[in-house]
Amino acid sequence: MQRVILPGGTIGVLGSGQLGRMFAISARRMGYLVHTYSPGGDTPTGHIADKEWVGSYDDLDQVRDFAREVDVISFEFENVHSATAEAAEAIVPVRPRGEVLHITQNRLREKGFLAAIGCPLPPYRPVHSLEALHKAISEVGCPAVLKTAGWGYDGKGQCKIMAPEDCDAAWQAVGGGESVLEAFVDFAHEASVVAARGIDGSFAHYGLLENIHKHHILDITLSPARFGTALEAEAVEIARAIMEKLEVAGVLCVEFFVAAKGKLLVNEVAPRPHNSGHVTFDNACTSQFEQQVRAVCGLPLGDSKRLCPAVMTNLLGDLWAQGEPNWAAACRFPNVKLHLYGKTEARPGRKMGHLTALAPSVDQALADALLSREALLAR
Ligand code: AMP
Repeated sequence: MQRVILPGGTIGVLGSGQLGRMFAISARRMGYLVHTYSPGGDTPTGHIADKEWVGSYDDLDQVRDFAREVDVISFEFENVHSATAEAAEAIVPVRPRGEVLHITQNRLREKGFLAAIGCPLPPYRPVHSLEALHKAISEVGCPAVLKTAGWGYDGKGQCKIMAPEDCDAAWQAVGGGESVLEAFVDFAHEASVVAARGIDGSFAHYGLLENIHKHHILDITLSPARFGTALEAEAVEIARAIMEKLEVAGVLCVEFFVAAKGKLLVNEVAPRPHNSGHVTFDNACTSQFEQQVRAVCGLPLGDSKRLCPAVMTNLLGDLWAQGEPNWAAACRFPNVKLHLYGKTEARPGRKMGHLTALAPSVDQALADALLSREALLAR
């Protein structure tokens, strides 16, 4: 019997960013207490949590102290060493389990797992040396993308290779460690499936979401995807298979490239609520964050039904270049929801918040999301 943690219980979160913040908002609404653990203080999650622990993920004694004060642990970002998850798992349930973290935090392990269960992937080769990179380029062809195997996100630790002569510079650029060379996919679209799996194996999903990236960072998510109908069932089945094989309890996102002729290729997997799922906070019966609360606590999943079309636009630190954005101007759009993460330092590329526009059609929601974001710059 898996233990159920009822409202009134305490949920621990490893990590303290905006994902943990929105998780904590949902958890507290349901009557749970939340403790967050990360190396930083005064964090987006800490502002909402009942208790903010400040410590290194490698300080296993303090991680154990944290684990003793909570009933279950989840995480909001996957770059936590598996030793940390193991130390916690010896004391309380960690959901999803540490093994999920271990597989998905390393691109080579993740691709190996996905290939073994038959997921469609772009051609790739593991690369451990410059010589291996030259060999891999001769096999995969150009253009290609070299990515560090571990600790990369939002395009960090990536380098595009246009011709074999670029190999030496690319190898230097990614730091010359364990890497993966991937064929460059000339995709028509990018998409994702955000789904939840309960401890009883139940499954809920938000359909196919359409994602538009800018400089490798998610810029816009459309719910539903404008091209989705024919691809949705296949994409959802891939997500379901991945979650079943990983025995995930929690929310997971599968990011896809939609290549020529509608062929789906899995780009990567994130075993947690995802930026592309933020729309669900406002347009779903049960948001991805509430699903995560329910799943990690062992409660039944909620209804993931979409209540109306919606479009999310990220607000990056760049918007602060000319001073504080004009919040009142964006709030003049009555169908637009403003989310800010409580970060005080606005650096270029840093995710500071997002806007979600709700409308009867996804095209209308897109127009309003873009107009309201532009309005932030009105003086
Ligand atoms: P990642 O961190 O691997 O998700 O990469 C961030 C973004 O870079 C993706 O969402 C794509 O827009 C782009 N990208 C990454 N890998 C590839 C690839 N193999 N082919 C084309 N674009 C890519």
